[in-house]
Amino acid sequence: MTERLNHFIGGEHVAPSEGTYFTSTNPSTLVVLYEAARGNAEDVDRAVSSARHTFESAAWKRIGATARGHLLRRLGDLVGENAEQLAMCESLDNGKLLREMRGQMRMLPEYFYYYAGLADKIQGSQIPSTNPDILNYTQREALGVVGAITPWNSPLTLTTSKIAPALAAGNTVVIKPSEYTSRTVLLLAELADKAGFPPGAINVVTGLGAEAGAALVSHPKIAKISFTGSTGTGSHIAAQTAARFIGCTLELGGKSPNIVFGDANVANAAMGVVAGIYAAAGQTCIAGSRVFAHKSVYEELLERVTERARSIRIGDPLLDETELGPLAFKDQLEKVESYVKIGAAEGATVHSGGGRPTGLELPGYFYEPTVLTDVDNNMRVVREEIFGPVAAIMPFEREDELLALANDTEYGLAAGVWTQNLATAHRVARKLDAGTVWVNTYRAMSPMSPRQGFKNSGVGIEHGIESMYEYTRLKSIWINT
Ligand code: NAD
Repeated sequence: MTERLNHFIGGEHVAPSEGTYFTSTNPSTLVVLYEAARGNAEDVDRAVSSARHTFESAAWKRIGATARGHLLRRLGDLVGENAEQLAMCESLDNGKLLREMRGQMRMLPEYFYYYAGLADKIQGSQIPSTNPDILNYTQREALGVVGAITPWNSPLTLTTSKIAPALAAGNTVVIKPSEYTSRTVLLLAELADKAGFPPGAINVVTGLGAEAGAALVSHPKIAKISFTGSTGTGSHIAAQTAARFIGCTLELGGKSPNIVFGDANVANAAMGVVAGIYAAAGQTCIAGSRVFAHKSVYEELLERVTERARSIRIGDPLLDETELGPLAFKDQLEKVESYVKIGAAEGATVHSGGGRPTGLELPGYFYEPTVLTDVDNNMRVVREEIFGPVAAIMPFEREDELLALANDTEYGLAAGVWTQNLATAHRVARKLDAGTVWVNTYRAMSPMSPRQGFKNSGVGIEHGIESMYEYTRLKSIWINT
């Protein structure tokens, strides 16, 4: 019989109130992995009430900031000890390379340790006053119950980016993981329980976005929503939270430019372009899907990228030698297939790839690493997020023209720059309309480094000390002495 996973509420596994479940499927083998509880408004209400009860409890308040840090540190330790299991579960769920998920799990304890160290450094300040009889100071307070809604592409890393700062700041949380990747977030909640977090501090309601997700966003006792996912869903959530004047942090989609100047080390740049777009089969928000190469190196870069793209080993994500796994689910595959068709109809040349690979033993949602040329900024394949292994490569001549093209997008998540000229690096980084700019590297990330999506790529900040303040409110206290 298929394994069944239930919600995790108030420190216990709780069956869905309607008794319904949905399935999670391995995208490589198409075998059903497990069934997860299909949460509804009643389940969400139960989880939020539990989180609110814990937030208001003397037990949670007595824990104090330093001890909250210890709890987070212990949870980080447990994540490290269980890294192999967590990596395997994520890889089975979303089809990303086991190798990559192991790397993410090795990094994950760092997120907990970072916010553990900050938990007792949240403080207010004394404000200068023109009246000597007045003492004015500020204090930072936790918000209450934070709702975290996360996608499937890096389930635990993206969930941790939200709950570690939220818990460090003294909030309690209810998480609604993606319906494609419920398991590891449930495992994380169990580890938090083992680490000593009180019941109700970390709750998980699994289910569909339009059901459990929507119920979490509209729950009256939620103090803030922290969301990572598509720009469309983010816009919907932003409208709802704005109408209720509650906070929201949004990490959304992207269409990031990866720019290769004429003086770049083209071999390194080509590797950066390949990693930028084909890692995780292009299913990363920061995918460098628009590649701009100076016309003096365009042909060389195209050749190097194409050669590498054609040699990428596609197959079972659990094997060490595999370089590209499947797309995470059927709709993803169909979306990528349809975009490549749209591109061809718009006049793009499918220079390499452009189809499902043949000769694989696995029946899953695999798609070839694809290079599109003869593309321009008016085409949908250059304007819209494909979220798959499809690079559009374009030549440019002048820097001002390049900057205009690179910034001509609704998104502003990230950008890459490849040059050996320091002045070019600084100047172009300054002028790019993107929240993260990498120079001569791509995809670097750390819990210490704040990241913000500009334009339609987000609202608010994740990572860094700034992120923790997003889970607090600031009170100004005036005392007439
Ligand atoms: P999605 O928007 O479809 O779903 C994200 C989450 O929202 C899921 O848990 C889903 O169940 C839930 N959801 C869906 N509809 C909802 C609703 N009406 N109310 C409440 N919750 C709802 O996105 P996805 O397909 O899971 O993820 C891919 C997207 O995420 C891409 O656009 C990608 O760029 C983006 N992403 C952004 C970042 C970042 O840091 N900026 C990181 C990873 C992924």
